[in-house]
Amino acid sequence: MPLKNSRLRKPLLAALVSCVLVVPSAASAAGPQRPPTLLVTIVVDQYSADVFSEYRSLYHHGLATLASGVVFPHGYQSHAATETCPGHSTVLTGARPAHTGIVANEWQGNYCVTVLKEGKPVTSSETLLVPTLGDRLRDADADSRTVAIGGKDRAAIMLGGRKSYLTLWWDRGNGFVTFKDASVDAALQAKIDEVNKDAKSVYASAQLPRLPAECASRSRPVEIVDKYSVGELHETKPSSSKFRATPAMDALTLEMAKAAVDTLELGKGKSIDVLAVSFSATDYVGHYYGSEGAEMCTQQLALDKTIEELLTHLERKGISFVVALTADHGGLDIPERNSSRGVPQARRIDPQLLPESVGERVAETLKLAKPVLLGKEFGNDIYLAPSVPAGKRPKVLAELRKEYESRRDQVAAVFTRSQLDAAKMPSAPPDQWSLLDRARASYYKERSGDLVVLLQPYVTAYEPSSDNYISSHGSPWDYDRRVPILFWWPGIEGFEQPAAVETVDIAPTLADLIGLKVGAPRMDGRVLQIRQTQN
Ligand code: ZN
Repeated sequence: MPLKNSRLRKPLLAALVSCVLVVPSAASAAGPQRPPTLLVTIVVDQYSADVFSEYRSLYHHGLATLASGVVFPHGYQSHAATETCPGHSTVLTGARPAHTGIVANEWQGNYCVTVLKEGKPVTSSETLLVPTLGDRLRDADADSRTVAIGGKDRAAIMLGGRKSYLTLWWDRGNGFVTFKDASVDAALQAKIDEVNKDAKSVYASAQLPRLPAECASRSRPVEIVDKYSVGELHETKPSSSKFRATPAMDALTLEMAKAAVDTLELGKGKSIDVLAVSFSATDYVGHYYGSEGAEMCTQQLALDKTIEELLTHLERKGISFVVALTADHGGLDIPERNSSRGVPQARRIDPQLLPESVGERVAETLKLAKPVLLGKEFGNDIYLAPSVPAGKRPKVLAELRKEYESRRDQVAAVFTRSQLDAAKMPSAPPDQWSLLDRARASYYKERSGDLVVLLQPYVTAYEPSSDNYISSHGSPWDYDRRVPILFWWPGIEGFEQPAAVETVDIAPTLADLIGLKVGAPRMDGRVLQIRQTQN
């Protein structure tokens, strides 16, 4: 029966709402049975929401377990520059690249985890401008330890933050390594040496795995360049770079993670520890073979088992843990396959739009010395070369803008610094953002490009080649932005929430789960309700 006095309705509703908001999180229902002592964050590199949904029914191991928890199938790396370094930087900081400062894998010609010390490039976490959840935990409790392990340096470093106890990454040729000035205790160093020794023998005998029966229907060759095709598993020993595009890469990362858990007794003390693991093989498979062939299918089935082994290991140790899994960005299949499968507009970038070529034309028009632009490959951030005289820059930028805007067939948007300076950080759900919103979330004035250029959907930013990447990510389009976000703990009452959420929501959600108060700097994300509430 409706209330007689409608004025009563509002205060009553307000009272109900505020009631819900002030209930202490621990009392709001089914959280983990024991308070967690280990926060496990798994990032699968280039794990698009599309790959997750395509393979979900084929998972029967660790990924099936995690997918029985709380599932946000439409998570978003909401920003425009959907690359590895920015993507990893959002996951445990709760901050968008505009605040982490990690605007791309490289800016102004510098790699995202390299700083100059006494004139020499040194691998460092100093480029990350905000604390990770592990950094904040350590500030609250000096005994809390964060261990970050990844198949790539930038992945591990962005997850580990600036105060990690240990950050380890795979370095081609050297195995797992850490910062030059880091001290590693002897028992752990012995384990690292052991894993690296294993790596050498795995590497020496590396073969691509057999094609699983479930993947047979996906095994079809697609020609990329003359006589070079992908889509089927290659029977030969992979070259040194393509070794990373086999499940053996993730298996080594797992081995290292297990060794760190054992040696350091993570999650066994009174403090809450963080274990962050980034599995890279899915990304390399995507880059070298695309995402819709037998290679990706085989990789997905292997990843499912790799993740099971990690969960089983933690359970056997009796650790009380919670898991959050997501990706640093999504990905797009190769245009050669996409164009014959319902996406006729899929194509590769016109080489005329690569920095060298655009720069050459502008140099000619304005009678300038070359180079005008930095870099060889296309990135959203366009940087003028330092040699372009300050007085000529406005004219050069205007000319560049004209160049890109004349190519609407391949270029979707061009934004200037002043447009980005004036734009507000978006606050709507990430599936409703404009292109300018996406570029704004990627924009950090001191590091971003002199222009931001966004390609049209389904334009792949690599030229085809048999020994290099053939597919890309990095665009502002949803195939690159959408990633799964899964939360799980033993005994969880799972549910599915298809609304659009962000990877920056992961850190505040985990902080809320353990009752960690998040002070300054504030996070961009919000707390997701992941405990089933009693209605
Ligand atoms: Zn990546």
